[in-house]
Order: sequence, then structure tokens, then C-alpha cells
Amino acid sequence: MSIIDTVKEALGSGPSAKSRPDDGSKGAYWCDDCDVRIRDVDLEGEANCPECGQEMRFEAATGRSCAC
Ligand SMILES: [Zn+2]
Repeated sequence: MSIIDTVKEALGSGPSAKSRPDDGSKGAYWCDDCDVRIRDVDLEGEANCPECGQEMRFEAATGRSCAC
């Protein structure tokens, strides 16, 4: 999916409700070693990587137009 499509969907015209940002999510947890990403709203319990068990890094979703 291109960045433009992602932005369009984020603006509210997307048919899928799954990727909408209005579900209370403030960001996601990342494990840099495993490339595992878990959204904060999907996380249950502690922020540990399901693959390696290490503590995951929280990354806030501050702007959906930034691709960096
Ligand atoms: Zn990991």
C-alpha cells in the first residue's frame, strides 16, 4: 500500500475499519531485533516481545504523514 493510500484511509474514507486510528491507539510497541510490532490497544499485559521476550520499545503515533 502506498503512503498516499494510507493517508486517504486515515482521513476516513477507507472501507476497512481495522486500520482506522480512532480506536484509542496512541502508538505501537516495537522489537527492533525481531521486527515485531504490536499496537498498544492490542497489547495485553507487559510490553515484552512474543518472539524473544525482551522489553519492547514504544513508538507514539504522532503523525501519519511522516514516513521516516
Ligand atoms: Zn524480539
